[in-house]
Amino acid sequence: MHSPEEPPTYSHFTLRANGLACPCGKHGCFEHYASATSLVSRCESASGRSGLNGKIIFREAEEGNRLFLDELSSWIRDVAEGLTGMIHIFNPEIVLIGGGVSVQEKLLIEPLRNLILHQAMPRFTEGLRIERAMLGNDAGMIGAVRFWLDHQEGME
Ligand SMILES: [Zn+2]
Repeated sequence: MHSPEEPPTYSHFTLRANGLACPCGKHGCFEHYASATSLVSRCESASGRSGLNGKIIFREAEEGNRLFLDELSSWIRDVAEGLTGMIHIFNPEIVLIGGGVSVQEKLLIEPLRNLILHQAMPRFTEGLRIERAMLGNDAGMIGAVRFWLDHQEGME
């Protein structure tokens, strides 16, 4: 709990007021609920197992692990809820899902897309595309290199 004397943290997007404590110091952050780390810890706490990762979870979910499918579905609902709020604010034409788990078309991108298109206001979903980022998990690194290259060109 922050006391009024402490400076406030301006970091994440609040999904749940008074939700789970986030490493940033706030509670209920979307980033905390929507991360792959969150999916892993949900599956670990539901199954009592440790050492899980996204690959194991998606593989077992695909093989029919009911527990993981349920956790996955609850995680996707949280991701969809946060993204729907942002879609209502920014009204984008496209939402790109990146990160290592974004290769999971059938178990992640499809249900996420269906949920968002179902729950967002119709005037925001007309023409809205929800796709996986083509550069997947490398997007951040490639973007950093591109930025560096652009900066070098600007120096000449
Ligand atoms: Zn946070």
